[in-house]
Amino acid sequence: MSTIAPGFELEPKRRRTLRAFATDWLPQGRALPEAVWQRRHRSIVRFALLQAVALLLFGLIQGFAVLVVLGDFAMIVVTALASRAPNASRRTRMLTATMALMISSAVFVDLARGITEAHFYFFVMVGVVALYQDWSAFGLCIVMTVAHHAVMGELVPRDVYGSAVEWRSPILWALVHGGFVLAVSVTHLVAWRASEDQDLADPLTQLPNRTAFNERLARALDADGRAPGPISVLFVDLDNFKRINDRLGHMAGDHALLAATERITNALREPDFLARLGGDEFAVVVAGPEADAMRVAGRINDVLQPPVTVDGREVFIRASIGVAGSDTVGSRDPKDLLRSADLAMYVAKAAGKNQVARYDAHAEQAVRDRDQLRADLRHAIANGQLHIEYQPIMSGDGETVAGVEALARWSHPTRGAVPPAEFIPIAEETGDICAIGAWVLKTATAQAAAWRQTIAGCDQLHVAVNVSAVQLDDEHFVEMVTDVLDSTGLPPEQLTLEITESMLVADRVATSGMLETLRALGVKVAIDDFGTGYSSLAYLAGIPADIVKIDRSFVKDLYPQSGSRVLVQSIIDLARSLGLDVVAEGVERSAQAELLQQLGCPQLQGYLYARPMTRTEFAVYAASSPAHASTAA
Ligand code: C2E
Ligand code: CA
Ligand code: CA
Repeated sequence: MSTIAPGFELEPKRRRTLRAFATDWLPQGRALPEAVWQRRHRSIVRFALLQAVALLLFGLIQGFAVLVVLGDFAMIVVTALASRAPNASRRTRMLTATMALMISSAVFVDLARGITEAHFYFFVMVGVVALYQDWSAFGLCIVMTVAHHAVMGELVPRDVYGSAVEWRSPILWALVHGGFVLAVSVTHLVAWRASEDQDLADPLTQLPNRTAFNERLARALDADGRAPGPISVLFVDLDNFKRINDRLGHMAGDHALLAATERITNALREPDFLARLGGDEFAVVVAGPEADAMRVAGRINDVLQPPVTVDGREVFIRASIGVAGSDTVGSRDPKDLLRSADLAMYVAKAAGKNQVARYDAHAEQAVRDRDQLRADLRHAIANGQLHIEYQPIMSGDGETVAGVEALARWSHPTRGAVPPAEFIPIAEETGDICAIGAWVLKTATAQAAAWRQTIAGCDQLHVAVNVSAVQLDDEHFVEMVTDVLDSTGLPPEQLTLEITESMLVADRVATSGMLETLRALGVKVAIDDFGTGYSSLAYLAGIPADIVKIDRSFVKDLYPQSGSRVLVQSIIDLARSLGLDVVAEGVERSAQAELLQQLGCPQLQGYLYARPMTRTEFAVYAASSPAHASTAA
């Protein structure tokens, strides 16, 4: 077993872990904010100065020579004042103040001529330095107690100790007293460690909190004196937590957070360090380059994919993750690194959530642009920058206009057209989607009601409006829809609300109730982007919907022998047996249309027939279509 090499290897390694253990276990005043520390330090120094005065009087009363007493006084005062040196480190100032207190104790024992009771003073001082919540002050107390008792005990035993037993073996008794100081110190230490754990832990998840995270990150970057390797930070922000909280309640929110914590923890390995920064924000310190951190981020996203059961409901937890490594950011400042990871997280969110993004120099600009866009969007409605385009939905033979989908458009004054895929997520985040959605609904419904009257044969025209999940959180949504129908006079049967599948899956029960109410009014509900969510086909049976829109990604891959063909066939067959209507989206080529017709798809939508167009263009298109709007959807 005993080869030289392993011993050589082991030695520094063991020292490192011991050191890591000590820094992890021994309290270092970490939980003390600077202002609190300063306040305590000032009080302790004042206390030491007060003692100097008291001991001066005590010495004089005891009849000691003025010079001796003044010497003691000066020693305490100089040390106490030295501990206020503004340029010294926190630790140096603390140790100097501790020294002043220990000197006072020694002086007291000396002036009390070594009586045993005077020694209690040392223990009282340990209690005072405990206010620093730092183990090194204790270390100094022990060393100074033993040193004083041993050295002075050898020189003038009767001035240090109160009994003959002690006079005979001053060093042994110095060690005994040192042992007691150690015991008191350990008691304090354990007490703080417990309270520090509480201060540095998040009460819900028991994960380290923001303070603990900042500390750990700073220590990792500081490398504890070792050769500095790259360190990375992951910023993890849950995408839909607010919705879970708002719709299912705080208990469910807590439950989801705990589930997320458990899963993320499982995706990590020693010594990755996970903390909860607050709300739905988590962060991880990874001891490695950014490339390593990207892999960790990928694992976190993977483990979060399966649904979580909260209160018997299946809920999906999704996260946007930003990654920044000291190797790519080019800084070893903890603040820079966390900020970069945070920026990257915003980039991930902007890219459509449930994503991982790494920091790069453009992230900053991208985030600034997005903030600007967010601000501009606020005024877009008021400034008339929004309009709607209408895309025809055709009957299965592609001959007849059966309906029309309203799609929001934003003409930005300087940027030009901003695609809805970019501004709708922003509007959802800010809540502006409620105003935008209401405006689209009102405008498109009014338009459809007008077309019923003005375009011959369009009296059965259906209008489909996209509804965002956030809109359904508004309890007045149903009322708003009813008002719009009343004021425009469009029959409810001719309005379709398109809701994405993932929205339904995320929170089925709460959404279902509202959809049922709307359907009871006669309004149609369509499941948009079907197939992109995580539900199974069987799931179709239970959803409160009238129409299924097959996502265009399946239509894109639709060839006679493709897997998509089998899937599309199954959706159509199942939908038909359930009495649901089906629309295939994104039909671009006639081959796709033919195949869809063979499969019996009742409605088609896509560039093959028409792109989204202005209302004037649509009026012309619908009026000239061969047998317009004769089939009800
Ligand atoms: P969506 O609801 O799936 O809308 C269909 C999208 O597919 C539209 O994109 C449409 O222009 C596009 N499209 C139609 N036919 C084809 C085709 O043959 N090929 C291809 N490649 N694309 C086709 P658009 O207008 O960019 O809208 C994107 C998404 O933005 C919409 O997807 C919808 O989720 C959202 N959106 C648009 N308007 C609104 C709105 O008023 N409210 C809400 N909540 N979301 C909206
Ligand atoms: Ca849609
Ligand atoms: Ca769609």
